[in-house]
Amino acid sequence: MAEWVSGHEMGVRACAFGAVLLLMAAWEIVAPRRPLARSKLARWGNNLTLVALNAFIVRVLFPAGAVGVAAFADVRGWGLLSLVALPSWLAGLLTIIALDLVVWTQHVLVHAIPALWRLHRVHHADPDYDLTTGARFHPLEIALSMVIKFGAIFLIGPSVVAVIIFEVLLNATSMFNHGNVRLPPALDRALRLVFVTPDMHRVHHSVEDDEANSNFGFNLTWWDFLFGTYRGQPRRGHTGMVIGIRDFTQPAQVTWLPGLLLMPFKGRIDRYTINRRQWNAQEKRP
Ligand SMILES: [Zn+2]
Repeated sequence: MAEWVSGHEMGVRACAFGAVLLLMAAWEIVAPRRPLARSKLARWGNNLTLVALNAFIVRVLFPAGAVGVAAFADVRGWGLLSLVALPSWLAGLLTIIALDLVVWTQHVLVHAIPALWRLHRVHHADPDYDLTTGARFHPLEIALSMVIKFGAIFLIGPSVVAVIIFEVLLNATSMFNHGNVRLPPALDRALRLVFVTPDMHRVHHSVEDDEANSNFGFNLTWWDFLFGTYRGQPRRGHTGMVIGIRDFTQPAQVTWLPGLLLMPFKGRIDRYTINRRQWNAQEKRP
């Protein structure tokens, strides 16, 4: 099984991406959580073109991908996991948890460091919140993610299959938790003990600074609980909250592909730091 998955990495990933995309798209059409502010056709066209462009760039810049790096480290016995003899299921589970913490930390950093926020705000400037938001990132942020992931893989020393499972999971959960969908409240509460839900991550896409600087998790909720960045609900509710960022609101800037590609190099930065004092002041605001 593990060998088959390793040998069919691209097929496995493409099938999982397509299946989750179709499932979430159907769910959003049948029972949307919020009415969309912009035309779905135009947004999806641009967002999905950016996804295709990113896939092409990653293939050109990093032909071996995270899986190739994992195989490279594996045959040389590099990484912390090579120091201990663990059952493969446990090593795989630890790999997924550790890589999720890396992604969470990276997410906090792209909000905290002004130059990186310039890249990440392409994701946040989407004026609507749906499954394509979850796949919409600037190519430079995608390249940065790959380099950080390579470093983490060298440090952890995971199996190739564990890395493939993590990649598939991250793609799938990103589309799920950016979904314009509603879960029954009891199920949402239960899931949040472990997994990020659409209602939880939507808070992070608010135009409000303190709400956007919370709920950084993509897969596991534990890191936000542990580091005090968890926020249950948006102040104005899920249908009343405003999605996006304040400095970029024109369609040519936030939905048109050339505007997205140029966004890191334009404008001033209106929100970039997780400033504890500022956060606390906003917390006390009525
Ligand atoms: Zn973010």
